[in-house]
This record gives sequence, C-alpha cells and structure tokens, in this order.
Amino acid sequence: MSQNASLPIRTRIAPSPTGFLHLGTARTALYSWAYARHFGGKFVLRIEDTDVARSTQDSVEQILASMKWLGLDYDEGPIYQMQRLERYHAVAEQLIAEGKAYRCYATPAELDDMREAQRARGEKTRYDGRWRPEAGKMLPPVPSGVAPVVRFKNPLEGDVTWDDLVKGPITINNREIDDLIILRPAAEDAPAGSLGVPTYNFAVVVDDWDMQISHVFRGDEHVNNTPWQINIFNALGAPLPQFGHVPVILGDDGQKLSKRRGAVSVTAYEEAGYLPEAMLNYLSRLGWSHGDDELFSREQLVSWFDGTHLNKSPAQWDPAKLEWVNSQYIKQADDARLAELVAAQLRQRGIEVESSRLLPMCALFKDRCSTTVALTDWLVMYFAPVSPSAEDLASHVNDAVKPALAGLADRLEAMAEWTKANIAAAIKETITAQGIKMPVLAMPVRALVCGRVQTPSVDAVLELFEKEIVIKRLRSI
Ligand code: GLU
Repeated sequence: MSQNASLPIRTRIAPSPTGFLHLGTARTALYSWAYARHFGGKFVLRIEDTDVARSTQDSVEQILASMKWLGLDYDEGPIYQMQRLERYHAVAEQLIAEGKAYRCYATPAELDDMREAQRARGEKTRYDGRWRPEAGKMLPPVPSGVAPVVRFKNPLEGDVTWDDLVKGPITINNREIDDLIILRPAAEDAPAGSLGVPTYNFAVVVDDWDMQISHVFRGDEHVNNTPWQINIFNALGAPLPQFGHVPVILGDDGQKLSKRRGAVSVTAYEEAGYLPEAMLNYLSRLGWSHGDDELFSREQLVSWFDGTHLNKSPAQWDPAKLEWVNSQYIKQADDARLAELVAAQLRQRGIEVESSRLLPMCALFKDRCSTTVALTDWLVMYFAPVSPSAEDLASHVNDAVKPALAGLADRLEAMAEWTKANIAAAIKETITAQGIKMPVLAMPVRALVCGRVQTPSVDAVLELFEKEIVIKRLRSI
C-alpha cells in the first residue's frame, strides 16, 4: 500500500516516560508540532508506557512540564498505552484469526539454544519460524504451562519500501527481518486476569492507525523498525502514514548525545537559565534550516516549517551557539519577565526579593548575560555579602586609595537623595579632592561593593544598592 498523502494532517509525539524529556525527543516533538501547526492539522501526545518496569508517573509529569515550558501545546492526549491494552489484544486476536499472527510457545531457553546454534553456524540470529503456521506444516504439540507470545507473520519475500520525508527512498528486504513478537503474556506474578503487554512495534502501529496519524517524525534509531510497522499496517489494511526519520544529535565529541556527555534533558536547560523560545529556536535549527536564518520566532518557525529542508546528516550539539542564541533572547526579553525568573532563582539560593526590585537590575545587566543563571549570579551582590578575590584586593585596594574610599563613603552618607546623578557627583568630587584618576577609585569601589572589578558604570551599579550596604562595604577595609 502506498503512503497516503490525502489523510488530514495529524502528527504525534510518543515519548516513553522513563526519564526526562530528552533533547532529541524534544526536537522531534517540535518538528511534529510545527508541521501540524503549519498545515492547520492536529498534534497528539501519546505516552508509551508499556515498559512497566522503567516507566514512572514522575517522568510523565516531567515530560508534560517540559512540553508546556517549550510551548508545544497538543490538541489530543496525553493518551496512555497502558490504558489501551484491551485494544491491542483485540487487534492481535483479529490478526491471529486472519492467519496474520500466531501464538509461539517457544520458551526463552529454547530460543537461546536456537540463537546459539545459529551463531555456531555463522548465521545471523533470527526467529526460525518454528511456530509459524504454513499450509501443510505440522506444528509442534502445544506444551502445557507455557504462556505463549503472539508473533506477527512477517512476509517472507519482497521488499518494504517507503519514501522517507528526511532520508528519501528506503528499501529493506523482508528476508532481513523475522517474525517479531507483538504481544507478550502477562508476567507470572501479575494479578489473575491481567492482560499481557504489546511490544513497541505493535502498539505504535495500532495507535498510529487509531489516532489517524498522517505523518510520523521520529529519531532515525527507528528506521530498522519501520519495515515491520509497515507490514503490520498493511496486514491491518490501515493507511500508511508518511515517515520522516530525523538523524541523531551528536555531542561535541562526535558521539551520540548521551547523559554521560553532559546535559541531555530539556529540564536541565530550563534549570541552567535558558529561555524556552531560545531553546525552541536552537533545537529547530539543529537539523533543519530556513536559508541562513539563525534567530526566528515561534510564529516564523510555524510559517516556514513544511517538512522540507530537514538535514540528512546528524546535527552537532553546540553549547556555545545555544548560549549565543539565548543571550540574544535575554537581551530582547522584557525586564519584568526576567525579574520573575531571577526572583525564582534567588529564592532557590535562599534570598527572597520582590521581583519589582529586580527590574532595573535586570535592565542594567541583561546585556552581559547569556543565561538567567548568569544574571542571577550578578544580582546576588545586591542581597548577599560579596567576597572580593585576594588578587583584586591586592591590585586595587592599597593604602594610597584608602583616604579616597573613606572620603567617598562620607560623601555618600551625607547625600540627601540616593540617585545616580548624585552618586556620580560624589565620585567626581572625591577624585578631584584626592587628585586621583577615575579608575584608581572606581576599581576598589567595584571590588569592595560588587566583589568583582568588571561592571557597568559605577554610578549606575551603585544606585541600585541600598545606600547602607554600599557605605558598609566601602568602610570594610
Ligand atoms: N516511544 C518511542 C521513543 O520514544 C516512540 C518512537 C516513535 O515515535 O515511533 O523512541
């Protein structure tokens, strides 16, 4: 059956809740979402929780939170596979009744022996079809006490071909693939009457069929699963979706991005102070392009993303570029929004501040920060003691400048109104009175008050402090 281009556009993302939302899954979710939005279709969220041992509710919640954070809103779902077991059983029974699937009673030990013998003969290991019914074939007697699996009767000959939206035409011969297990019996210790669990390749087809999915974007680790899935779609007489297999994301060492090589979850980047729109921008660009555009809005992405211009080769995760993209979004971000984010981060560090107080500080420092964590690092000096480095103290705070620091402290203390202009005037008066140059005073002021010597202009920085704090820190030597 050919791929059906006339289905209404319906895409889905189908994460397994065995951890945080992985960056690779977030990217395919983003492509699926953008594709549906571009064509006015629907985007479905399905939770593939059939790996009962590894799936957790906590992970479901993390995934939902990350989708929400990224703004990937879905029209249907979340649909949980574990709530659809009856449906998979019904479809499996239907396939058995039609002679397209069968029960296999081979025990794991027997299958191990089978594979061992195949390896010894130098053959590729595969199910040898011992329980596969064929006209005129005698099947072994059904053993007692063995709960059977259900296997799909894969065609023995012929090619499976599809025109992949990303990789182009792909052909795999049926001789390469065996009769896969589509349904396993319930675990021995499961309560009586429990239903067995379908395997990924079967559940995914039943779901994509039932949910009328027209386009499947997913990671290319699934390319080898697709021929089985296409054969099952065909056995069910279901229309085929179009498949687009997106290449993996590589870490900067050229290996597949993995936990061992740094942060791989969306949550980690949220915590590290990235803005969702920057993440969305960077992730979409990682494996797809629209000319030379590097910075674009969510709306632009939706208007441009039509499933073309997806890269065939793996994308390289580039933390420096992501940081640059984020810094561009931070520069443009509304100060009130940044202030909220910084207030939340200060709270995590044990500092409670009204976000309104942070607003002018965010405005002053956002240009030099690539994450909101970096921005918070700056603003901490306004609320917690600073510790200038011994090196900065040694190079800038010497006996010669102490009278100037004391003079400045006096002038600031006497000042009626704490304004940037008055602070600037006090600094000017102090350097004139002491006969020193601006940096000779500004550097130790920065070191003592801010705990570092590279800051925006001193008057602007000081104005945002509480006056008493400035004076106390100036007098601390
Ligand atoms: N649960 C699968 C995964 O997370 C879904 C693959 C698919 O989209 O078909 O890899």
